[in-house]
Amino acid sequence: MMVLEIVMIQMKNTDKKIAIISNHKPQSEEVCRALKQKLRQNNFILTSKNPDVVISVGGDGMLLSAFHKYEDQLDRVRFVGVHTGHLGFYTDYRDFEIDKLVDNLKLDTGAQVSYPILNVKIILGNGEVKTMRALNEATIKRTDRTMVVDLIINHVHFERFRGDGISVSTPTGSTAYNKSLGGAVLHPTIEALQVAEVASLNNRVYRTLGSSIIVPKKDKIELVPARSDQHTISIDNRTLNLKDVVRIEYQIDQHKIHFLASPSHTSFWNRVKDAFIGEADK
Ligand code: NAP
Ligand code: MN
Repeated sequence: MMVLEIVMIQMKNTDKKIAIISNHKPQSEEVCRALKQKLRQNNFILTSKNPDVVISVGGDGMLLSAFHKYEDQLDRVRFVGVHTGHLGFYTDYRDFEIDKLVDNLKLDTGAQVSYPILNVKIILGNGEVKTMRALNEATIKRTDRTMVVDLIINHVHFERFRGDGISVSTPTGSTAYNKSLGGAVLHPTIEALQVAEVASLNNRVYRTLGSSIIVPKKDKIELVPARSDQHTISIDNRTLNLKDVVRIEYQIDQHKIHFLASPSHTSFWNRVKDAFIGEADK
């Protein structure tokens, strides 16, 4: 029985397709070389086409790129992040833990950890609809003049916003740009979106809530620009300049991002502490 199980696991490895995506820093390329060699030695198939597991080597930014490369295959792909610096939010392994990663892949039974992502629909004046997904956030700005947009929640007008921009983030994106905007840090198991203001105008004439809001799953957020001229929309690490934006709709996507469950998965609050607080003096 035991012998049979081992054989089955080895056979499974030969079927498992692994893609590696990395930045071009010498340290990342070195990690990639070692990782590829170890995976081949263990009969994994290395391919960028229809992979079962996608390993990103670099930082959280690299994992964002890996996500977008495979965002149309989210249901069948599991991601793993290897960080070449400090431990990141989307990365479970450090560069010196390659052996541990390969061992975990060998013993892998398909376990995964899943997090919500954001679905963004941008409706343009000519009727074109751009549908995009964000792992961290989508930010709309109008750089040359004050951005004026109506914020609508579940078809009810909430406020007219005037300021630099608005960010809508996922739970895992709450520690990224959202945090710099004064937004709250959300545990990634909370299925919610966070709307954070970027420098809102608040005086006797103009009024916004001022604090960020957290909306539950199934709630729909809409932004309707009052002036339909050029806006800048950033989706994670990509930026679009769009003319004639009529409306933007935000919802939690029906798909999630899946990560390979790792026995050494660091708890979310440890990561937050490690990234933002460090070892404080008593
Ligand atoms: P980048 O400008 O090179 O790096 C942004 C920084 O944010 C990096 O240190 C990155 O970590 C970190 N980061 C990315 N996702 C994170 C997350 N979910 N939680 C905590 N930190 C995170 O840009 P990039 O690497 O391409 O990443 C794009 C992201 O940068 C955007 O989605 C946005 O959230 C963020 N950003 C932040 C600001 C700001 O805080 N003022 C401004 C613009 C963009 P690594 O070093 O591990 O890659
Ligand atoms: Mn980066």
